[in-house]
Amino acid sequence: MDPILERYQALEERVRAYTPNLDAQRLFTAFTYADAAHNGQLRKSGEPYIIHPLAVAEIVADLGLDVDSVIAALLHDCLEDTEATHEEVAKKFGATVAELVEGVTKLTKMQYVSKEEEQMENLRKMFMAMAQDIRVILIKVCDRLHNMRTMEYQSPRKQREKSLETMEIYAPIAHRLGMQKLKWELEDISLRYLDPVGYKEIQDEMASRSAAHEEFKVAIEARIAERLAQEGIKCKVYGRVKHVYSIYRKMYSQNKTLDEIFDLYAFRVIVDDISACYNVLGCIHDMFRPVLGRFKDYIGTPKPNMYQSLHTTVIGSAGIPFEVQIRTWEMHQTAEYGVAAHWKYKQGLADRQLGTEGDFEWVRKLLETQQNSDAEEFVHTLKVDMFSDEVFVFSPKGDVKSLPSGATPIDFAYSVHSAVGNSMVGAKVNGRMVGYDFKLSNGDIVEVITSKSAKGPSRDWLNICKSNEARVKIRQWFKKERREENITTGRAALESELRHNKIALSTILDEDVLPNILRKLRCPTFDEVCATIGYGGTTANKVVVRIKDELLRLDRLAEAQAAAKAATENILHPGNPTVQADTLKGSNKHSDSGIIVEGLGNCLVKFAKCCTPVPGDPIVGFITRGYGVSIHRLDCPNAAPERRSGEEEARWVRVTWLEDSLPNYETALELFAKDRDGLALDVTMALSAAKVKVKAISARSTDEGDANINVVLEVRDRSELTSVINRLHQIQSVYLVKRSSGN
Ligand code: MN
Repeated sequence: MDPILERYQALEERVRAYTPNLDAQRLFTAFTYADAAHNGQLRKSGEPYIIHPLAVAEIVADLGLDVDSVIAALLHDCLEDTEATHEEVAKKFGATVAELVEGVTKLTKMQYVSKEEEQMENLRKMFMAMAQDIRVILIKVCDRLHNMRTMEYQSPRKQREKSLETMEIYAPIAHRLGMQKLKWELEDISLRYLDPVGYKEIQDEMASRSAAHEEFKVAIEARIAERLAQEGIKCKVYGRVKHVYSIYRKMYSQNKTLDEIFDLYAFRVIVDDISACYNVLGCIHDMFRPVLGRFKDYIGTPKPNMYQSLHTTVIGSAGIPFEVQIRTWEMHQTAEYGVAAHWKYKQGLADRQLGTEGDFEWVRKLLETQQNSDAEEFVHTLKVDMFSDEVFVFSPKGDVKSLPSGATPIDFAYSVHSAVGNSMVGAKVNGRMVGYDFKLSNGDIVEVITSKSAKGPSRDWLNICKSNEARVKIRQWFKKERREENITTGRAALESELRHNKIALSTILDEDVLPNILRKLRCPTFDEVCATIGYGGTTANKVVVRIKDELLRLDRLAEAQAAAKAATENILHPGNPTVQADTLKGSNKHSDSGIIVEGLGNCLVKFAKCCTPVPGDPIVGFITRGYGVSIHRLDCPNAAPERRSGEEEARWVRVTWLEDSLPNYETALELFAKDRDGLALDVTMALSAAKVKVKAISARSTDEGDANINVVLEVRDRSELTSVINRLHQIQSVYLVKRSSGN
């Protein structure tokens, strides 16, 4: 009989074994259809082409996937390489098969260029997002596996390219889907082409030890099996040497020789239920000495890709360490076949504990929502709906960009650079000119056409684009590019609003007044105030309300000053009146200190360096010899109650803050933190975010690994200072922030 037909029949038997009501005619039709379509084509090996789809279908059947998947595997290269069309396949084999084949074809057409890791992750996501149905990915992985198995017939360049791609895309995807067995084989074959010398070294070394390996393996298997039989535990025990790539990775990442690799051997004990797993663990730890810190309970805490097992490393009698993995049959299926195991082993979904984190979250969610439907239904509705809020597209150079779904060329342009967006005059998708509102799809190649004479974005773009990034950058452009225009319109609006409130523009532009107003508005210049109004960042009305507040405050301050001056005849140092006079000169509008000293009127005041009080702090004054009144915080050690009694009692005076005090007061803080990289930077960032003026900052590390940071800053009052302290407290590893006081 024809060997190819014979091979087909073996496939049919394999599928029938898990598909009792198999429509064999349909499967056979698919085979003959593919055979006819590929008729005359040869593989690089010289074999008829049909061998490849047949082999892929065999792997798919090994995974236990449904008949539609097996048929799609037989047809997977038809759309790409033969005359067959989507419509024809759909008519003959149904819409599902046609869509699976179409999906695999799309993935086949995808171009990869090796990139840095972040880009690769996007590529993997794009790959998975493009496959609407998870079966498409599974078939594609099987296709790749067979191509890797027959890679010897390809050119060396192709071998390397495909191996790299397999290592970077397919093996991680197989891992993510929990398909350990396929992953290992993909990795080992790829390694053989990527580092033939390294691969051969390990393989030869392992081969030379194979007799010893075998002896060790058989002995341990027998010991474990015997003991567990004594305990009455039904189980299967088998040992194996770990796969080449995992040994290779350990050798190179940890710079070890083969002899130094801890666990070359892995033994598996497969049992019927979970409680038996823990019993087995007890027996193993009783028989062999466990290696500390190597026990892992992936049953209690499954890996994100649903993997479950108990892992422990123990040391055998010959001093050789080995790993033992203990699991149930169901866990075993999941470990070997991952997502595909659900086709094979359709039970116990409801009480399965699934991973809760990271990459596999979507499968967990999928499975959770599917738990109540029956297994058959589950298989058919298992769609790949992760990343549905993202779309992945290529730049002409092959960089992958992740954009929000529904994104347009505008979003793409701004994701490259704001300058690209601002000078965009058109866009091409897959080589064709498109409109700005063109909706991008996964895998599209997007090219932005720019021009130096571009007029910049239009306001409509704000409604067309989908990403915040684009929106923010477009707004920024309007803010900056139209600055002159904004200033003019803003100034006109402000003047009109001022007239309305009977305030002359000259009043606020007065050189003594303007700095206060700008500080109040938190704007560096008057132009900036106008520009902000101009582009709509604030309104003239709001600005004028705050200007009025500030003018009122300045008036009150001037009044208090005048009153204080009138009362100041009692001068501390009559022998040196010029000092006093100088201090008072020019301060008729605002107080020098913002302090009223009871009984002394306006006199020379300074703030104690030890405790640097700010408005809002309870304070007390001390009449110094020669420098006026020194203001301390009431809680400053230098103003402690015992100091305020006794012979100097008379020199302590009551002082109060003027209601409207000076804009800025200098004060000091001390931070205590666990030292770490970037601490000082974080402190600086927090201070700058708090918008306070920092006058000095110094940091030193202690021998105990702590850091001490001193900050001298200017604040308006105690409440602003409190909010700064709160901010500093939030910095990671800071454990105390306090105001400097005393000594
Ligand atoms: Mn193929």
